[in-house]
Amino acid sequence: MDEGLSSNPDVTVNWVDAGREPQNNFDRKFPWGKPIDGRRSGELAGCQVLLPWPAERCGLWLLTCRRCGMKLAVTAAGRVDDATSVILPCEKKRA
Ligand SMILES: [Zn+2]
Repeated sequence: MDEGLSSNPDVTVNWVDAGREPQNNFDRKFPWGKPIDGRRSGELAGCQVLLPWPAERCGLWLLTCRRCGMKLAVTAAGRVDDATSVILPCEKKRA
């Protein structure tokens, strides 16, 4: 487990490498990456974490909240349209 990958002390970030290089061109709508909001609605509190961007190649970011155990997987392709940040919904932070 590489704690150094996480920019947020409440969230553990692990990289699962798929061992593949990206096959397709990046999405031109996101030349600077895209922020991802993993909350289903705006009502939930969340923890934002910045991801190393772009990813090395195709794979998966596994994000785990240390407070409530919430897990979220975000795919990445090693391209500029990868996710730059993710908001992880947090059960424990709900007001
Ligand atoms: Zn949480």
